[in-house]
Amino acid sequence: MSLENLKVHDHSFNAGAPAASAAAAEEAVVLSSEETAWAPLYDLDTLWFQVGGTICNLWCTHCFISCSPENHKFGFMPREFVKKYLDESQELGVKEYYFTGGEPFMNRDLPGILEDTLAIGPATVLTNGILIQKRVARRLREITDDSIYSLEIRVSIDGFTAEANDRIRGQGSFEKAIFGVKNLVAHGFLPIITVAQTWEDSETERVFDGFRQVMTDIGYARPRIKMIPPLRIGREKVRSRGYDKFEYITKELLTDYDDTLLQCTSSRMVTDKGVYVCPILIDYPEAKVSDSLKDSLQPYPLKHQACYTCYISGAICHNFSSSGN
Ligand code: SF4
Ligand code: SF4
Repeated sequence: MSLENLKVHDHSFNAGAPAASAAAAEEAVVLSSEETAWAPLYDLDTLWFQVGGTICNLWCTHCFISCSPENHKFGFMPREFVKKYLDESQELGVKEYYFTGGEPFMNRDLPGILEDTLAIGPATVLTNGILIQKRVARRLREITDDSIYSLEIRVSIDGFTAEANDRIRGQGSFEKAIFGVKNLVAHGFLPIITVAQTWEDSETERVFDGFRQVMTDIGYARPRIKMIPPLRIGREKVRSRGYDKFEYITKELLTDYDDTLLQCTSSRMVTDKGVYVCPILIDYPEAKVSDSLKDSLQPYPLKHQACYTCYISGAICHNFSSSGN
């Protein structure tokens, strides 16, 4: 693609934080139809639910969909609403389920939703850990013990000290998340600690060792730690930087590339406003593909600059993790 053909324009963006809203307006590279790469949906293996909407008890400075206590752009998903999609997903052969937000545990229907899900397949919940009190961990244990399928919990913590984490996630969040992790471990879970990279690459080993030490100190002997690259949209764009004008995917780049690494070739995201192409792009109206799962089984044009992060880093949303040992 020649630079002459490269235009930049604004999409409106509804962030929870008024101060971030205007500044976070997304810039998108516009590719011609010949240059645009398309992602086929090979099989709908994985189904995501934005079960907590965009409502969160934290206001993280790097949140790529700008969730906060005030962002009601997407709402909580009621149990019956989720159940309809679970039923449809069985007909389509979905193999696993992910629940995210916002903060999923703010949705009081979550335990019931997990019961319904674990009756048909394995589930993963992505959480900031703040609300995982002993009572909640006990309930999750009961739900898991009643199922033949597994329940994974991913807890996001962004620094191995309170100072480093709270700078991004807010004061007191480190201590509360660690308490949540302890409760999960005490109830037999092996939570995946998910860390968004906000440091230089040269620091990665030091950060990894720091997390391993902290987890070992609280009794989590062989921690699972997953590091994820930044998605330069939403508030992250304001915190650090947006995408550079050369960061996008073209058809040419996908030649000889294993596109099964991209989430959108095997998954979809259900929200209270319909089905979106993936968990990353719900802030983009054009990323809504349908209302039903059946109608979402179609290719998608990879015209968003966030697609570049997927291209470089692979299946960033999946559970694969590295052991601390
Ligand atoms: S990054 Fe997660 S915990 Fe932080 S505001 Fe966004 S949804 Fe909430
Ligand atoms: S952001 Fe990633 S998962 Fe979403 S459409 Fe682009 S490549 Fe696919």
